[in-house]
Amino acid sequence: MAEQKFVKLKSIGSKFIKLKCKDCGNEQITYSKISSVVVCNICGSTMARPTGGTLETTSEVTGVL
Ligand SMILES: [Zn+2]
Repeated sequence: MAEQKFVKLKSIGSKFIKLKCKDCGNEQITYSKISSVVVCNICGSTMARPTGGTLETTSEVTGVL
């Protein structure tokens, strides 16, 4: 299993964000303050995980709602 590079989002506040799965390209909406790991609905890849009140993600952020 390839190592995943997580990027922490900076001061995004309490927002819904759109993430693009790096593995299959699926776009999925999640909340910026999550309490559990977000996995892709299509391929099951880990898209984001909680850290200190915000999230860090392996995916590209394609939008903030
Ligand atoms: Zn995926």
